[in-house]
Amino acid sequence: MLDLTYELPKPKVISGAKHDWELVIGLEVHAQVSSNAKLFSGASTQFGAEPNSNVAFVDAAMPGMLPVINEYCIEQAVRTGLALKAQINLSSAFDRKNYFYPDLPQGYQISQLYHPIVGEGEVLVELGNGLARNIRIERIHMEQDAGKSIHDMDPNMSFVDLNRTGVCLMEIVSRPDMRSPEEAAAFVAKLRQIMRYLGTCDGNMQNGNMRADVNVSICRPGQYEKYQESQDFAHLGTRCEIKNMNSMRFIQQAIIVEAERQIKIVEAGGSVAQETRLYDVEKGETRSMRSKEEAHDYRYFPDPDLLPLEIEQAWVDEIAATLPELPDAKKSRFIADFGLSDYDASVLTADVESAAYFEAVAEGRNGKLSANWVINELFGRLKADDKDIANCPVTPAQLGGIIALISADTISGKIAKDLFEIVYSEGGDPAEIVETRGMKQVTDTGAIEAALDKIIADNPAQVEKVKVNPKLAGWFVGQVMKATGGKANPKAVNQLVAQKLGD
Ligand code: ADP
Ligand code: MG
Repeated sequence: MLDLTYELPKPKVISGAKHDWELVIGLEVHAQVSSNAKLFSGASTQFGAEPNSNVAFVDAAMPGMLPVINEYCIEQAVRTGLALKAQINLSSAFDRKNYFYPDLPQGYQISQLYHPIVGEGEVLVELGNGLARNIRIERIHMEQDAGKSIHDMDPNMSFVDLNRTGVCLMEIVSRPDMRSPEEAAAFVAKLRQIMRYLGTCDGNMQNGNMRADVNVSICRPGQYEKYQESQDFAHLGTRCEIKNMNSMRFIQQAIIVEAERQIKIVEAGGSVAQETRLYDVEKGETRSMRSKEEAHDYRYFPDPDLLPLEIEQAWVDEIAATLPELPDAKKSRFIADFGLSDYDASVLTADVESAAYFEAVAEGRNGKLSANWVINELFGRLKADDKDIANCPVTPAQLGGIIALISADTISGKIAKDLFEIVYSEGGDPAEIVETRGMKQVTDTGAIEAALDKIIADNPAQVEKVKVNPKLAGWFVGQVMKATGGKANPKAVNQLVAQKLGD
């Protein structure tokens, strides 16, 4: 079982202000569904394609074209909802969100305002040191992405690339439950991890496949508790929404910068205006984009081209039955079955590939030893080489072989590192390499004793020192290891040294 403390972390308090202030953060995460085709057309979603090459007539809003829903996308939203322990709404509907933008040829975005496909859920967010909290999910709705305006290709003209137009997004909306920048980033990271496990979104933030609108407000100590009790937003400060953040680091920076801006305003006697803002990475400040728009500004109405979306409980159950083991469950199982620490289990379950690799190594072997080798030696080596588990030159069977040799006392831990390096760079069967290159541990006490006797005879001064200070006996252990090329069994060496030099 996970040993987690379900308690509220201390909210981030901003220093340097006249009063104490606390942060309140709610996120709207846009996750692009990993589907080959768009939400309402058969056009490809391939990233980096020639501009305007993946555009169906309906994406370009040609007159008379009709949207046809992509069932695969619906399934991915349901899968994501189930993984977030959320209510799946068997009946949902699509609405038109009307606004003009050059990269939106329809003049509206098809979204789900009134009846989203996924309702309330939650996600466990861990903050290290066993501290974890459930962050509430308000809803997940599906919507189309817009295209992209390009302003930096020509001094006089702007261009529009519609490849992204109509690509399926899931918008995952949290409750304002996060209290620090770290927690907000951990929330985004956890969502990304879960969606990668599911395969519903690749979580690639650089490509914009996952991005977050970050809502930030400030309040005096005690106010948030009142909100929690009543769920009345009136206890909270006015929020500003920072749009389109696609880096964990910038999300955290922007939250702090925005909170400081709001504190300055309020402490100077002003009030925060509800706005949509942009984070300027270079200047390290948020800037107003537009005043906050309300639902009625968009004239939302049910899309007359699409029927309400009705799905069956049996289909939802089928999807639920095929969900993979999710990060929390996998982590708990690793702790229980392999005796791992919370930290090691977190590292090893960060992604499915690492977890599968570890399991293959650890199966039938010492779990902790396997975890140490995978995390410290293998991951360390891969990182130094700018590789990852997908192109790892050492198979689980090879690494498992090395670990088996250590456990059987055939090789010492030190030799195992040399062996690992050989397997990593040259390949081969670890047991065979140990055999052919004479790397076996020397457990023959006669040979070790002979080496030790010689060292004692050659170093009378050192022997005298050990008589005064027994702690210095370690020097002899080191010398024996050196003399045997690291192959002497350290246990046997320690015993012999104690026998001969101890009192
Ligand atoms: P909209 O769709 O207009 O942006 P929502 O009611 O859907 O408005 O809320 C958007 C996000 O703002 C949600 O993630 C919510 O948690 C967050 N939020 C609401 N009130 C606050 C607040 N006072 N401080 C911080 N975040 C907030
Ligand atoms: Mg919003």
